Amino acid sequence: MTALPTLTRLAEALGVALDATALDRFARYRDLLLDWNRRINLTRVTEPTEVEIRLFADSLLLIPYLRRFREANPDNPPRLADVGAGGGFPGLPLKIAMPDLDLTLIEATGKKVAFLDAAIAALDLAGARAVHGRAEELAHLPDYRGRFDVVTARAVARMPTLLEYCLPLLRPGGWGLFPKGRDAQDEAAEAANALATLHARLLAIDPAPVPELAGTAIVVVEQIKPVPPKYPRRAGLPAKRPL
Ligand code: SAM
Repeated sequence: MTALPTLTRLAEALGVALDATALDRFARYRDLLLDWNRRINLTRVTEPTEVEIRLFADSLLLIPYLRRFREANPDNPPRLADVGAGGGFPGLPLKIAMPDLDLTLIEATGKKVAFLDAAIAALDLAGARAVHGRAEELAHLPDYRGRFDVVTARAVARMPTLLEYCLPLLRPGGWGLFPKGRDAQDEAAEAANALATLHARLLAIDPAPVPELAGTAIVVVEQIKPVPPKYPRRAGLPAKRPL
């Protein structure tokens, strides 16, 4: 078994202890990802240490927020949706580090969903599933709309578009956790109209607390009351005409 020393060190810096089962799953996930990545485009990150930093540890930046959410809502493990999960980021690393999370990975590209299904099976992750579809469409179905405690999405769209994809999935009181780059402040400012229209508010913009991940900041949003029924607009419109 590979020790994944870089991931172990960065996770510890984030207050996340990874046990032997988690480290074994991360090693198998890395190998599967790099293998499938030769055939389908899952990630541009291909150097193994970079996988540990840019994909795995970067995803684990959300664990402290999930813990905080859980302390405030102790009855059930959070139901998390990851919109535009691609190769599984950040959802699968979060599930590996917090195995009782209930995880739904939403992905529009069928080949990527096939990878996510294979990864969930290979890593033996109960309580995780991949769904093939666009967020704009799934968010109008009763099984998805307002059904999640936490929603995340990484590298999918700028904030106003992203909020229209993601917030309709949240229940009131739920959180949106969005890893963003160095212009997170500008993106959040751009999203003022989307937040008001979708009945949500900005809670925080937190730079990553670890130097290796300094390019990432987490934008935290709270859903105040249900999103008006007309949102999200039909597929394509949130990107073409952002709120
Ligand atoms: N989140 C992953 C990561 O950080 O590595 C993948 C990022 S990739 C750049 C964006 C992914 O979002 C693509 O796989 C794309 O198919 C998916 N996507 C884009 N718009 C979507 C939508 N409206 N609904 C569902 N998936 C979407």
